[in-house]
Amino acid sequence: MVKSEIDARMLAEADAMRARDLAVLWHPCTQMAEHPDTLPLVPIRRGRGVWLEGVDGRRYLDAVSSWWTNLFGHGEPRIAAAIGQQALELEHVIYAGFAHEPGLRLAEQLLALAPPGLARVFYADNGSAAIEVALKMSFHSFLNRGQSQRRKFVALRNGYHGETIGALSMGDIPLYRRVYAPLLLEPLFAPSPDAFDAEPGESAEQCALRRADELDAVFAAHEGEICALVLEPLVQCAGSMRMHHPAYLRRAREICNAHGAHLIADEIAVGFGRTGTFFACEQAGISPDFLCLSKGLTGGFLPMSAVLTTAHVYEAFLGDSRERAFLHSHSYTGNPLGCAAALASLAIFAEEPILARNRDTARRMAELAAPLAAHPQVRDVRQTGMILAIEMAPGERRGLRAYRSALANGVVLRPLGDVLYWMPPYCIGEDELQHLARATFAAIEEATT
Ligand SMILES: *Cc1c(COP(=O)(O)O)cnc(C)c1O
Repeated sequence: MVKSEIDARMLAEADAMRARDLAVLWHPCTQMAEHPDTLPLVPIRRGRGVWLEGVDGRRYLDAVSSWWTNLFGHGEPRIAAAIGQQALELEHVIYAGFAHEPGLRLAEQLLALAPPGLARVFYADNGSAAIEVALKMSFHSFLNRGQSQRRKFVALRNGYHGETIGALSMGDIPLYRRVYAPLLLEPLFAPSPDAFDAEPGESAEQCALRRADELDAVFAAHEGEICALVLEPLVQCAGSMRMHHPAYLRRAREICNAHGAHLIADEIAVGFGRTGTFFACEQAGISPDFLCLSKGLTGGFLPMSAVLTTAHVYEAFLGDSRERAFLHSHSYTGNPLGCAAALASLAIFAEEPILARNRDTARRMAELAAPLAAHPQVRDVRQTGMILAIEMAPGERRGLRAYRSALANGVVLRPLGDVLYWMPPYCIGEDELQHLARATFAAIEEATT
């Protein structure tokens, strides 16, 4: 068969798959009416490294790490092998009343890596569920200590914590929140410390400290009523990759302490080396009362999450009644396959100088993006470690046009409004970075002219 025949056959195969898919499936965060015309589905056959291989025979560089889950590239053989071996031993067991080695080893290792003071690990199965766990645990721990008047939560403007009812309640992205608002809890919202909103002449740090004073005022106005502050350390990812100075986190920690409230650090997107340190909280030298982890936890292989908390919180639940215990469970809590994937991922961090290599990669990302900053339609280029965002001037459907242009050039960029971002798997190499930069430049040209 000649190449053109193979190509034609693969294109036909991709078309057939699109048609079958659109007959039965409902994809997440998608206006299905836009398929197939505005937004053709992209059937994928396999993934290797930074590349996704389409059923149509084309390759796409996964610049968004498949919704920020992937760390070391697709198909990472050590993680795949660990899952396979675990599946042959023990695929799953009820985690109430039972224990297993992968769950135990993972908890020990996470606590060893986490900021000091965290002493207990509770597993759940996705990021939103981890937030639900932290909210319920915080409230319940105060209740068990006789502080039943603490029922409120403080969240930040422009934050995102997931899309189940409780987690969505803590978020402030209008697209996700507005429709469901009648169903939601109402947290107290404090301003985002986002440095993009700094006053003229104000540094990122000064902006962060000014916003922290406003946070303090929220706590002061609700003395004794607040369970916890929930925030995303360093980068509000779903909130257009807005970034803030670590000084905010130091002050937020002090404010929570001064008012007897908990600090919930949502590192679901920024954990596991994404911001340059293993956990983002390290850059502020703080320990939260709750550390929520998911996405990169399993290297991008399986859905799983973990909530780390302190001995103080844990001890509030000990006693002789069932109601004093933490009442929360998911069928797949502590799934051994997820634990095995997470352990294999942590082993890669232990064996290879991932953080040091990421520092070099992040420097190359900065160099390659620098010319974009001079583009007349680019308002801001910002970076925290392995997250680089390019904010275009606002315009009609610019994000969609950029997405389609990049896809045509073999790159998956998934803009957040007018913001394009690079959040690639850590294994991205020099040629791939250059390919990404070229496609991004073309996407901006196409979106803005
Ligand atoms: C993705 C994300 C969540 C939700 O995780 P899911 O697994 O999608 O439910 C929560 N918080 C942050 C910061 C996230 O980026």
